[in-house]
Amino acid sequence: PRLANQIAAGEVVERPASVVKELVENAIDAGSRRVEVELESGGARLIRVRDDGSGIAEDDLPLALSRHATSKILSLEELEGVASLGFRGEALASISSVSRLELVSNVDEDPRGGWRVVAEGRRMEPRVSPAPHPRGTSVTVRDLFFNTPARRNFLRTEKTEFGHVEEAFRRQALSRFDIGWMLRHNQKTLHQLPPGDDPVTRERRLGALLGKGFLENALHLDLEVGGLRLWGWVGLPTHSRAQADQQYFFVNGRVVRDRLVAHAIRQAYRDVLFHGRHPVFVLYLEVDPRVVDVNVHPTKHEVRFRDGRMVHDFLFSSLHRALAEARPGERDE
Ligand code: ADP
Ligand code: MG
Repeated sequence: PRLANQIAAGEVVERPASVVKELVENAIDAGSRRVEVELESGGARLIRVRDDGSGIAEDDLPLALSRHATSKILSLEELEGVASLGFRGEALASISSVSRLELVSNVDEDPRGGWRVVAEGRRMEPRVSPAPHPRGTSVTVRDLFFNTPARRNFLRTEKTEFGHVEEAFRRQALSRFDIGWMLRHNQKTLHQLPPGDDPVTRERRLGALLGKGFLENALHLDLEVGGLRLWGWVGLPTHSRAQADQQYFFVNGRVVRDRLVAHAIRQAYRDVLFHGRHPVFVLYLEVDPRVVDVNVHPTKHEVRFRDGRMVHDFLFSSLHRALAEARPGERDE
């Protein structure tokens, strides 16, 4: 069973950023209002995600780290060669199989309560012991891939790994303005983002995550047509320098990378005024599931719209209109 965990780990746990993504998703699922992410050495030494969500009850702690799937794959060598098997969920089991993992959680308001369980690589002996913790959960992942050298060797420099972590963090912080966020690396606080769904707090967060320049040249839009709503910000290109590759698209709160979406945005962008420029955007598509059947794959950021044509046309025409209104008569060439 531990090997099965490590196989699943191959899919879920590619690098520190994938650990952060999974742990933060769990924190969001637990209804947290505040999520703190802390790393050392790009996450290779330590990743800690702390939340104030529902917590995990004492009896459920070992279960949270266990999984039930079995596998016919026999050796570690085979395991390390497996790129992708259709495993889903069970992220904690997967992560704990390739790291030293500590889970401390408390379901009560009383901060003296709380329980702790640890797992280390394939030696999973989850014994639960008392550990004070405020209501919520802290997951600490140390020495990622300490027992899978091939994967560890795949890790890039601290800077590169942290860059991926920051990108994962950015996406998640942009997906939930109602949650407060913190990101620390090597004892240094890089982001401290207060919660708030009001325009001022939102735009502050955008500035903090994407740079002040993004907002100075961005157009805010919010359009709704028959069960489809598109809102967010589209960057207008500056003449001073090339824009960074900042493209964020969320469908019903989940970050998505999709050809159809990308195509619609690119077309609108080009069509109106910005020839040869990369569109930059932070956009939120909200679809009424009764109108558009949307299916977002939980780990792969893929989305499937039943009526793709309708979504494409809505995106294109909304953006086209908004951009045309923003810069009437002004063309880039
Ligand atoms: P999945 O999220 O697919 O259920 P995970 O391995 O990510 O699988 O988590 C296992 C379970 O542990 C979750 O279903 C949830 O019940 C619990 N859990 C994990 N992290 C948290 C958390 N931060 N707060 C509350 N419960 C959690
Ligand atoms: Mg999960």
